[in-house]
Amino acid sequence: MAPQASLLDSLKHHFGYTSFRDGQADVIEQVMSGRDCLVLMPTGGGKSMCYQLPATLFDGITIVVSPLISLMKDQVDGLTRQGISAAFVNSSQSQAEVNDIFQRLAAGQIRLLYVAPERLTQHYFLQGIASLPIRLFAIDEAHCISQWGHDFRRAYTQLGCLKRHFPHIPVMALTATADVTTRKDILEQLGLHNPYVHLDSFDRPNIRFTLAEKYNGQKQILSYIKQRKDDAGIIYCSSRWQVEKLSKFLGASGINCAAYHAGLETEIRAYVQDGFTKDNIQIVVATVAFGLGINKPNVRYVAHFEPPRTIESYYQEIGRAGRDGLPAEALFLCDEQDISRMKKRIAEHEDEQRAKVEMQRFQAMTDFVDAQTCRRQVVLNYFAEFTKTRCGNCDICLDPPSEFDATEVAQKVLSCVYRIEQKGDVQYVVTVLRGQVTPLIQKHGHEKVSTFGLGKDKTPSYWFSVIRQLIHLGYLQQDIAQHSALKLTEAARSVLTAQETLMLASPRLQRASYWQQNTA
Ligand code: ADP
Ligand code: ZN
Repeated sequence: MAPQASLLDSLKHHFGYTSFRDGQADVIEQVMSGRDCLVLMPTGGGKSMCYQLPATLFDGITIVVSPLISLMKDQVDGLTRQGISAAFVNSSQSQAEVNDIFQRLAAGQIRLLYVAPERLTQHYFLQGIASLPIRLFAIDEAHCISQWGHDFRRAYTQLGCLKRHFPHIPVMALTATADVTTRKDILEQLGLHNPYVHLDSFDRPNIRFTLAEKYNGQKQILSYIKQRKDDAGIIYCSSRWQVEKLSKFLGASGINCAAYHAGLETEIRAYVQDGFTKDNIQIVVATVAFGLGINKPNVRYVAHFEPPRTIESYYQEIGRAGRDGLPAEALFLCDEQDISRMKKRIAEHEDEQRAKVEMQRFQAMTDFVDAQTCRRQVVLNYFAEFTKTRCGNCDICLDPPSEFDATEVAQKVLSCVYRIEQKGDVQYVVTVLRGQVTPLIQKHGHEKVSTFGLGKDKTPSYWFSVIRQLIHLGYLQQDIAQHSALKLTEAARSVLTAQETLMLASPRLQRASYWQQNTA
């Protein structure tokens, strides 16, 4: 259906755009008719417009709930530049400033008011706005309501009070998180009434998925960055410690980068975010804390140095790449040890129920890593956006795994594990196979075992890949209690005794050109 001409005129007039993006016009028409809405659009899809345009048309106030002060400020600055009167109320302001805003609200001088959920749900605030002509509540980043997500904000769960206090005012919830449970949470907790649901395709076809084995992570990332010259990128790690370590390494290697995590001073974080947005800082090495509110269209890649906890957060994070629609890449360096470390961390959660749910979600994440089918298909199917077509823009589609008879190489690995008395982890076994003498190997006398150096002819990445597959297929197990030492399983016997032909996927890294210079 063609959007109403008057809406299009307003879009041009206020925002200077000549057409609506997919879904915007429908959502706007629905909310203007007073209906609750749930808007699911990927990051960069243009969610804000769904309430900003109505706000310019209503003869009253639109209240926007937003989780971050920096986000509010950006939006208010942007609107003000466009001649739309907007303001925010947050904890950084004095009482006098807040009073002033309330006066301007009462005088009809403000169309959009941004406010943090903690503030909005306070009794005095609800009373303060009760007499104002409010026309719409827009709840941005509505997934913060779900306690299973990493963006969980307790105050979001109080927002159900809006429907109780203002039953006749439409509520619009907006999020980029497609997860099915979160959707349900939002609808229920906010008490949306017969909402219009706009579910955009979550596909971001310009983002290429590339997964690769991590075997010398720092060097791999460094060479990746160098091959992409001046491209802006974000590198995610799972701990502050790793963020510091990696950014120091990259900095010392002459890369223009900065660290970002929740342990840094507010000013430093603001400085990094600003510098990145303005292209002064090329690369940010960060934890999940870096994300909400980054409005930078030309991020050319998002790299995961360590695995995220869920597919939702993974997808949200890579969604920060290529918002300008130009080719971008999501690089994921996978390491079996990172995965077992994360599992251990999750299992240690004191809330057993929660640990169980998180483990399931992480399992989905690791299944994605292990997938031999189109990555995009795996993700979109996960988000219940069912698709049968291969994308042609992921490592699997571009380079389908071929199988090879791996019986002999598997025997080398398994017998090496046996010879070193099942005491070494993946790294150690690879070092022994490749015949490298280290103090640790000498200490154990493992340079004398018969399998020492048997795998010299292949790169470390090759062996990592083979071992990873042997773990996935159940021939080897990592003993978490013993520093991830590799143990032979019952199934290993039939391979060792050559009773079984073993087919494995050809190690992927062998064929990914940008790693080759790093493979010793
Ligand atoms: P989201 O909140 O979904 O991540 P934004 O609302 O920040 O995305 O929008 C992303 C960008 O798209 C912004 O720069 C915005 O101005 C722009 N945009 C939104 N709607 C349109 C449109 N109809 N035509 C062109 N650009 C648009
Ligand atoms: Zn694909």
